Amino acid sequence: AKGSGGRMFEYINTNFRTQNSFAGSFLKFQEIEGKPRDQWPRQSHHGQEVHKQLVVTMLQSKLFKKEVNGLFSKTNKGSLYAAFIDSQSLDEGRWLINYLFLLNGYYANLKNYITCRVREDLLGYLSIVDGLDQVILLESAKELLAANSFEKIIRSTFFYIHSFYNDSDFLIQYIRASSKEKEDLAKYIEKNLKEGTFECCISKKYELGGNFNKSMLHDETRVFLLTLLFVFQSENINLDNVYNIFVENFKQNISDINEKDILGYLYQNRNIFNPVFSDVLELEELDATATGAMSYEEVPMIDVKDAPEDYIDETSESGRQRIQTSYNLRKKQARIQGDYKCGLEVLNNCKPIYFTSRVNGRNYLELHHLIPRAFRNDFSYSIEVLANYVTLCPRCHKQIHLATDGERTSLINALYGERNKRLETVGIGLELNQLHEYYKIGT
Ligand SMILES: [Zn+2]
Ligand SMILES: [Zn+2]
Repeated sequence: AKGSGGRMFEYINTNFRTQNSFAGSFLKFQEIEGKPRDQWPRQSHHGQEVHKQLVVTMLQSKLFKKEVNGLFSKTNKGSLYAAFIDSQSLDEGRWLINYLFLLNGYYANLKNYITCRVREDLLGYLSIVDGLDQVILLESAKELLAANSFEKIIRSTFFYIHSFYNDSDFLIQYIRASSKEKEDLAKYIEKNLKEGTFECCISKKYELGGNFNKSMLHDETRVFLLTLLFVFQSENINLDNVYNIFVENFKQNISDINEKDILGYLYQNRNIFNPVFSDVLELEELDATATGAMSYEEVPMIDVKDAPEDYIDETSESGRQRIQTSYNLRKKQARIQGDYKCGLEVLNNCKPIYFTSRVNGRNYLELHHLIPRAFRNDFSYSIEVLANYVTLCPRCHKQIHLATDGERTSLINALYGERNKRLETVGIGLELNQLHEYYKIGT
């Protein structure tokens, strides 16, 4: 069997081996909060900045932001996370809360990395495995979590799903195999581990002192199971029931917790957790394509000249509301500034397909963020500015989000060519390849 030998979730790399060790990295990074680069401590032996390797993950988890002067400071979410680490309450529920803090990160430049990784990659691989259905997936993950020895773990189906999720041939064979064959495989791996011959990829992976261990397997299985439950139910989840659903799922499938305490903590900090859930439920995106209540009313063309604008901390509910308020005005201004034309009108010849919006009597247009909202924490100035707003007809809007890379790239490049100077002017300039990465071009 080829097997990946790898991990299900690669955002927790060597610095972030488990969900809980993330807290340690966060505390480490906190040491350089508000300190200029030249004052960051250096590792004595090779002069490397120890904190440098944490920068990307700290921004992508939205726990820190980079100020205009280049200094790092905690976001509102980061401040709550610091207090959470400091307090020692909530017992087993701490794991769940830690997971929720990290849930809306855009690790590896992927919006909602954790939920997308499960929904698109892992379920994509596993759905082609004959004999593996939702029930087996859920039950086998639970079985692994309940196993109290490596002996039992190595005999659980999920152990193999975890290592071979991208090798459907192996998994199909494993699921079809007799219990005798499964037992032989387990014995073979045990022998390799015990004798230190590491002849198979599994024994290499779990070699003592290697890159992977039981607690990481346990942790990844928890992340997978909890996220999977969310993905399966997501159609019926909204901002009102999402708190209960995560807590219930955890209690029923992972570990017994004091629901009341955990919910109490989460509700008390709704200001921070609402934006987390709003991200994973993609509520903001839904809004961007809606026409919104807008009419023939006079739109004030104030603050429409390109200039850098202060970053708005998006990790709190109040920050999100400020963004929303400004967005509601700006999207109307953007239509006026764009003369009610699609930003790709020339390239895509949109004129014949325009239709008239019943709301304002002009061409119907949707608003598109050239730099997607998911990545706003990569920038020290606000990306919620007219320079970053493009009006598109519904056809072009769908194309830029849903077409093949070949058919999206020319659109992205055209918009970039037209906008990159303006983006620079407002302090959110970027290279074209960075923009391609945000759109997952070529990945
Ligand atoms: Zn869009
Ligand atoms: Zn168009």
